[in-house]
Amino acid sequence: MLSENIFLKILSKEIPANVIYEDDLCLAFHDISPMAPVHVLLIPRKEIRTHDLIGEEDVTLLGHMHIVAARIAARLGITEGYRLVVNCRERAGQTVPHLHMHLLGGRDFGWPPG
Ligand code: 5GP
Repeated sequence: MLSENIFLKILSKEIPANVIYEDDLCLAFHDISPMAPVHVLLIPRKEIRTHDLIGEEDVTLLGHMHIVAARIAARLGITEGYRLVVNCRERAGQTVPHLHMHLLGGRDFGWPPG
């Protein structure tokens, strides 16, 4: 079930997070409940509730977030492979209504995903 947008509170520093990267467009921090040895969440500062609400105006933002994700992966040493996941809406398991990329690494991942 979708909860409140707790990521807005992390963006405004109203609640703490283990932030590992930030710039004008996005913020990255460790997931509070990691599903892998490396589990980072990368979020845009812009409020976008979910993936199917992105538009042409977000092309630069989303491209930037992918580059940032790759750089964070390199910095955290998960160069043998990582997985990027975006859950869109409830059926895919989205719980926080703010677009976010999961960057997962440090273990093997199965396919197909669950
Ligand atoms: P979703 O299920 O929406 O794709 O992913 C939401 C993620 O946010 C989950 O992996 C969950 O553990 C993480 N999360 C939820 N609340 C917090 C929080 O307050 N702090 C941090 N760091 N992660 C959170």
